Amino acid sequence: MTATIIDGKAHAARLRATIATHVAAFREQAGRAPGLAVVLVGEDPASSVYVKSKGRATREAGMESIEHRLPADTDDATLLALVETLNADPAVDGILVQLPLPKHLDTQAVLLAIDPDKDVDGFHPVNAGRLATGMPGFVPCTPLGCVMLLKSVLPDLTGLDAVVVGRSNIVGKPMAQLLIAESCTVTVAHSRTRDLPARVRQADIVVAAVGIANFIEGDWIKPGATVIDVGINRTEAGLVGDVDFAEAVEVAGAITPVPGGVGPMTIACLLRNTYVSACRRDGVEAAL
Ligand code: NDP
Repeated sequence: MTATIIDGKAHAARLRATIATHVAAFREQAGRAPGLAVVLVGEDPASSVYVKSKGRATREAGMESIEHRLPADTDDATLLALVETLNADPAVDGILVQLPLPKHLDTQAVLLAIDPDKDVDGFHPVNAGRLATGMPGFVPCTPLGCVMLLKSVLPDLTGLDAVVVGRSNIVGKPMAQLLIAESCTVTVAHSRTRDLPARVRQADIVVAAVGIANFIEGDWIKPGATVIDVGINRTEAGLVGDVDFAEAVEVAGAITPVPGGVGPMTIACLLRNTYVSACRRDGVEAAL
């Protein structure tokens, strides 16, 4: 028996279509479009591609994309001043500063400067705190997409054992918080974890966010487990995840592919957060 392949591309397309419908209703009611401001500093090729596709997806959903491209030698004061301007701009519902920033810039100061109520990436410590304490805020897009994919195959996660491999602020930690909120029993593993294969073997749900190609082997997976592979690793064989897909697909109950799994959900969740932000700011009930 091979695993069910969780089609992230199809899920993301459906979510984006749903958001577009809700955005149309919002525009009708509010007389304006939700606005997402994206700030790119420098010319990093991967970041440029991400910013371009975020802009396209934003417009396709019927929202306003406000793009600010700043030269690589921009200083902290200029970037912080732009963030302040966007914080104060009523047409802007979401602010996203594309990471990584050039090394001379103070990433933490920039993330702290973003109004938490426009922080659609969910990276501001206020939003991390809201997530940890169960208050409404913004949840980082990648783990939010992971939970949606998980629930597409496991509608009720209550009581399941989950192992999250990776403890970054962007993926691993918020993923663990979301799984706790879904009443899973959560283990967070990282580079100092002892006997990782044994821990992964206990898990009904494995979320891999490590950044090492094919790191998690098929015989670490409990038969029938659900595997969510966040990793994006460029290899000579093309893009691969953190899980050895060819091996794991023979053991798991369901698994996300790379590409076409978690990746497409991330942008869809960014659109979702922007729409929700616009609704909150206008005092309208969000339909998602
Ligand atoms: P980070 O590099 O910030 O975190 C990697 C985590 O993996 C760390 O917590 C690290 O542990 C842990 N780790 C490293 N080596 C090992 C090991 N040998 N055993 C166990 N744990 C280990 O990465 P991100 O969280 O930002 O991203 C993870 C992956 O997800 C990357 O491939 C990235 O490209 C991808 N990604 C994909 C997205 C998408 O949209 N699909 C979005 C964001 C990321 P320690 O803390 O101890 O160093």
